[in-house]
Amino acid sequence: MTKAMTLEALSEAPAIGRFDNSYARLPAGFHVAAEPARAARPRLVAFNRGLADELGLDVEGVDDATLASIFSGNLIPQGAQPVALAYAGHQFGSFVPQLGDGRAILLGEVVGAKGRRDIQLKGAGPTHFSRRGDGLAAIGPVLREYLVSEAMAALGVPTTRSLAAVTTGNPVYRETRLPGAVVTRVAASHIRVGTFQFFAARSDVGAIRTLADYVIERHFPEAGTAANRYLALYQAVIARQAALIARWMQLGFIHGVMNTDNMAISGETIDYGPCAFMDEYHPAKVFSSIDAHGRYAFSNQPHIAQWNLARLAECLLPLLHDDPEQAVPVAQTTLSRFMPQFEEKLVEGFRAKLGLVTARDEDKALVKGLLETMAAGGADFTLTFRKLAEDVVLSPKEAALSTGRLFADPAGFDAWARLWLERLAMEDVPAEARAALMNRANPKFIPRNHLIEEVIAAAIERDDFGPFHEMLAVVTRPYDEQPGMERYAEPPQPDERVLQTFCGT
Ligand code: AMP
Ligand code: MG
Repeated sequence: MTKAMTLEALSEAPAIGRFDNSYARLPAGFHVAAEPARAARPRLVAFNRGLADELGLDVEGVDDATLASIFSGNLIPQGAQPVALAYAGHQFGSFVPQLGDGRAILLGEVVGAKGRRDIQLKGAGPTHFSRRGDGLAAIGPVLREYLVSEAMAALGVPTTRSLAAVTTGNPVYRETRLPGAVVTRVAASHIRVGTFQFFAARSDVGAIRTLADYVIERHFPEAGTAANRYLALYQAVIARQAALIARWMQLGFIHGVMNTDNMAISGETIDYGPCAFMDEYHPAKVFSSIDAHGRYAFSNQPHIAQWNLARLAECLLPLLHDDPEQAVPVAQTTLSRFMPQFEEKLVEGFRAKLGLVTARDEDKALVKGLLETMAAGGADFTLTFRKLAEDVVLSPKEAALSTGRLFADPAGFDAWARLWLERLAMEDVPAEARAALMNRANPKFIPRNHLIEEVIAAAIERDDFGPFHEMLAVVTRPYDEQPGMERYAEPPQPDERVLQTFCGT
């Protein structure tokens, strides 16, 4: 029986919002029509009502069964025009001229309080771009993406969001048979560095210009009025990436697969695959099971961002200057602004984490000193920063600083802390007020990997989504104390440590 003959398809498609599909109106080479595969028994695991409101969706009175049908792809909402997007990308440094949405289908765009947003089903079956993949997602990566993206949003990091998670009732075959699921991803757009590369690889300058103009209108309208609008676009993309990567580095976040197809032009974090927040701090930490050479190690992230931005520049060269000889130095000069911008954002954020309200040149060294001490002492990244606020309040009274207890060698920390306390003393800020400020900069709760694994195991082994909902509630209030939830703040025991995470496939 074809989909058109099913009962659900015969009933009228629900109108949940006003879709305006500007990307689908771009020329044919940008996208291919797509049809979600049929979910046998869609069941709603999570629905993000707050986000639905922000998007201006009208889902009041829509029951869970209907939401499950919509967000599994069984029911296409009125006005949606499902397509898969074309893109290319450098994967671990090697260029692939055609990747595209192999397991994602863009339903369309809605315009809400915060502007235009893509609504995309991830894991709803094969598309034109699936190659040998099945286009599906297993429950594990869906729950991981939901938890981590919503935690990132609550932490104030630019990110795609999660609107819904649905189990499909279909099996997905990976190393084992797993429950299939679909996550609905919301993004400012799904345009990536790799989208530009797709057209550059085909020497289609017209399409690159169309895409650049579209991106300017959608994401960087201020660039549209600049003397060289494409240069202004490039500068704006660089600035957003500098700010984004600085946020990751301030939270101990490792993306895991910073391929050019996983870098969004909008400046949002996208594609939560083998990502992780670090427990014990180490700059060389790698989680991704497929990152054998540490290309996407924690401390490499700014360098990789810069590398990806150089690939973007290559695509934009024909737009930057009529004379290719002159376009290259223009791009290089522009890109050379990335590292200084990144470092400025980085130290700015770390100042707040250390409770500093003024800027001094030596702050960079102070931050570096703490990170080195943390790496040497195997200290937990998140706990260390969170605990510093306690020391601010206690330090005049207690000789030994409590944060030192997190270090294998507290003496190293104590030596650093003396310098830090001297620096704090240069500012006239009451301890309690300072501690309160620090607690808004240093989260208590991040989605720790070993706990995500527990949540996924409960879902797979016991069909129990209680742990998922509890953890979601905790990590979306990352700066609050949340008495009774201390377990979520604790680093893993040695036997709970997750050393690798796997791609979302
Ligand atoms: P990712 O590693 O998630 O960034 O994906 C890289 C590329 O592989 C993209 O083009 C995806 O659409 C594609 N891909 C990943 N998983 C699947 C799958 N299960 N089926 C089809 N395509 C996939
Ligand atoms: Mg990707």
